[in-house]
Amino acid sequence: MKPSIVLVGRPNVGKSTLFNRLTRTRDALVADIPGLTRDRHYGHGRLGSKPYLVIDTGGFEPLAKDGIMLQMARQTEQAIDEADVVILVVDGRIGITPLDKEISRRLRQSGRPVFVAVNKSEGMQHGLVIADFHELGLGEPVAISATHGEGVRALLDLALLPFPEPADDVPDSDTVRVAIVGRPNVGKSTMINALLGEDRVIAFDQPGTTRDAIHVDFERAGRKYTLIDTAGLRRRGNVFETIEKFSVIKTLQAIEDAQVVILVVDARQEIGDQDAHIAGFIREAGRALVVAVNKWDGLDSYVREQIKGALESQLAFIDFARFHYVSALQGQGLEPLFRSVDAAYKAAMADLPTPQLTRALIDAVARQAPPRNGLFRPKLRYAHQGGRNPPLIVIHGNALDKLPESYRRYLEHLFREVFKLQGTPLRIQFNVSS
Ligand code: GDP
Ligand code: GDP
Repeated sequence: MKPSIVLVGRPNVGKSTLFNRLTRTRDALVADIPGLTRDRHYGHGRLGSKPYLVIDTGGFEPLAKDGIMLQMARQTEQAIDEADVVILVVDGRIGITPLDKEISRRLRQSGRPVFVAVNKSEGMQHGLVIADFHELGLGEPVAISATHGEGVRALLDLALLPFPEPADDVPDSDTVRVAIVGRPNVGKSTMINALLGEDRVIAFDQPGTTRDAIHVDFERAGRKYTLIDTAGLRRRGNVFETIEKFSVIKTLQAIEDAQVVILVVDARQEIGDQDAHIAGFIREAGRALVVAVNKWDGLDSYVREQIKGALESQLAFIDFARFHYVSALQGQGLEPLFRSVDAAYKAAMADLPTPQLTRALIDAVARQAPPRNGLFRPKLRYAHQGGRNPPLIVIHGNALDKLPESYRRYLEHLFREVFKLQGTPLRIQFNVSS
């Protein structure tokens, strides 16, 4: 699984600026997502061929006594304990503060590998800026400037050094890797038990430590799946329990590791920020997705219509996914849910031959030409497939950088229809060839 890098530090030291820099490479692929809150706290990045996850913990007050600061402190503590690497960000212009020392004390106790990033050091003499921060007792500090990008690469090189290059992902063609994710109490364990409770479990690898991921192989309707756990699944007799509290990092890692994600939401609760953030992350990660709206039992038809309308508009930014209304408790709706899992997998892995793609592109342009932009009328010439899981369609032509976002969406919609790509994100890239 991808290593997770957790950013901690007191407010205003530059954590979110560093976060943006560490995740920027991916942002180019992410168009504006209506409905998704802008304040993202987790994202992906890549250093050479090494992918990683970044989690920004916001401000950290380890001595908070109550209220929202205490809650944030708890979440940060959990993120620290689950992190593969922690980057402590401090402010090189201000120097060491008591809060920096307090956070460092907490970090030393955690036993996690920590790197101290001395930020805002542009235009300053690095040797001098970092000297002060040796006192934190967390090894050799690294001078960086998050706004200017200086030193960030060196910092990442250090932080990711112990993690190997990922092996080429050769999917085991007859097994689909599925992650069941969602915030606490939506019914994930109930669903897992409905799926695994009967004697369908083939193998269950109990890991040595809680930091390892758990994979459970099972079979449904003659098809093989591997379930990737998000919350410390344990087998007790014939029943599976998730014994750990909700873990953002494990959720993110499971999403990354899966081929298809089942996002479970609770029909009886409003969609919250946490649901939307997880959904947004799935979309950014490019994972095939099926939404399970759980606890559908015992609701009258008026309430059901209300819930459907609200959910589908709040989650409109993942409208590539099928929505299923299910009851994990009563085991209802799980067959169709898994048919959608299979369909989403097929769509994510689809082969899109160049002639058919180009044919679809030319038809699309014939039906609706791209708008003129000043002197230019963009010319779309041909298309080929640039990748799978999620499918990437590369379009070649002239002045394609002048195409409005609405035209990209028009093309996406059309390709989805022609190639039956429901259930997977679809990426379109414009190449300007001469
Ligand atoms: P956070 O509260 O730790 O997330 O901090 P922010 O990323 O919001 O940054 C706080 C302030 O520091 C903002 O005004 C940033 O523009 C500024 N800042 C961040 N990184 C740098 C840097 O490398 N150099 C300078 N001079 N300012 C920076
Ligand atoms: P998790 O934290 O996401 O794993 O959620 P759990 O599976 O522990 O379920 C949380 C609560 O919701 C438990 O009390 C379940 O009995 C209840 N629950 C789960 N699925 C359903 C369902 O389909 N219908 C109803 N009515 N309750 C459910």
